[in-house]
Amino acid sequence: DQYFDPAGWQKFTKAAEGRETPFLVVDLNRIKIKYHEMVGLFPTAKIHYAMKASPAVEVINLLAELGSNFDCASIYELDRVLDCGVDASRISYGNTIKKPEHVKYAFEKGIDLYATDSEADLKNIAKHAPGSKIFVRILVQGSETAEWPLSRKFGCHPNMAIELLIQAQELGLVPYGISFHVGSQQKDVAAWDDALAKVKYMFDWMKNEEGIKLRMINLGGGFPANYMSEVNPIKVYAEEIKSYLSDDYSAEDMPEIILEPGRSLVGDSGVLVSDVVLISRKSHTDLTRWVYTDVGLFQGLIETLGEAIKYPVYTPKMETSTSAGTVVLAGPTCDSTDIMYEEAGYQLPEELEIGDKIFWLTTGAYTNSYSSIEFNGFPPLEVVYAD
Ligand code: PLP
Repeated sequence: DQYFDPAGWQKFTKAAEGRETPFLVVDLNRIKIKYHEMVGLFPTAKIHYAMKASPAVEVINLLAELGSNFDCASIYELDRVLDCGVDASRISYGNTIKKPEHVKYAFEKGIDLYATDSEADLKNIAKHAPGSKIFVRILVQGSETAEWPLSRKFGCHPNMAIELLIQAQELGLVPYGISFHVGSQQKDVAAWDDALAKVKYMFDWMKNEEGIKLRMINLGGGFPANYMSEVNPIKVYAEEIKSYLSDDYSAEDMPEIILEPGRSLVGDSGVLVSDVVLISRKSHTDLTRWVYTDVGLFQGLIETLGEAIKYPVYTPKMETSTSAGTVVLAGPTCDSTDIMYEEAGYQLPEELEIGDKIFWLTTGAYTNSYSSIEFNGFPPLEVVYAD
């Protein structure tokens, strides 16, 4: 009940009828609700949906119609969103790692807002996307409290970010703002406070020491979906973040705020339906049941790597079962990393049998986009959109 109202559940079971597993059912209406919630909580911010979470045309069209902007990670995502008729002025290029020819391509398509975190990339942008607006991504804390951390690989030290912003101006670009990402499925709202303190220091430094007025803060994604571990409602995040911002900036000086949510917009909209392929034990004395389903890390559940993201699972026998036991949940491929949960202590009914359905809840984000093509011959995840 925490995840679905009865009407929502009915919609999923209807879409699932007669279909061969595994497949993902996405409820577009739930994405709409999440989008409206975010707009309501951050009425003055610009939302740039992080397409990587679910780059499906159905999702893009819906969000485009609702007025969302988009953040793309590659020219392939860019083509997808442009093909949906979204104007280039509504798209940012948020990946700090890009080939020069891809910057050129994006610029030719009209993109004028780019993330960077290095001198080499900045020079590429200056050369191939002259005059564009630049936001520099900084390294921030938060990896300990994020279930899917995004630290280290992206961002640079604030001092280097300041140098890049100064250099951006020298290269004829617009030093527009600063971005950060506190880690995906971030459970600690205070992570934004730490990051915003760095941003404030940089805004002040740029203005006072360099006479450059930055105009934008990109607060990234990181807002949670409803998995197994408890998280605060998005409202709590919004209230805290808005209060950090109003502590730092007066109403007249408030920079433009960009949000790049992915998981929190689309995660709750998905249910992945799978069948139990095999149930076995490793010896007569080891009572742990291994439950192998027809979906695994390579058909969309890659975020279970390291048991990081813990999806709620449901099987109809839970309604009638009298006893449940701990299981290992694993996928169908001949790869030993294809184990979703071994340590997490998932419990399933003792009555569970081969052929029973297992529903993976909150699987609307980072599932279809990660699903591989034909690993072990298994086809990529089929997706059904329910309206
Ligand atoms: N923005 C950037 C640059 C990202 O890399 C990501 C996720 O990888 C996001 C936004 C979306 O983050 P989330 O799904 O946590 O909302």
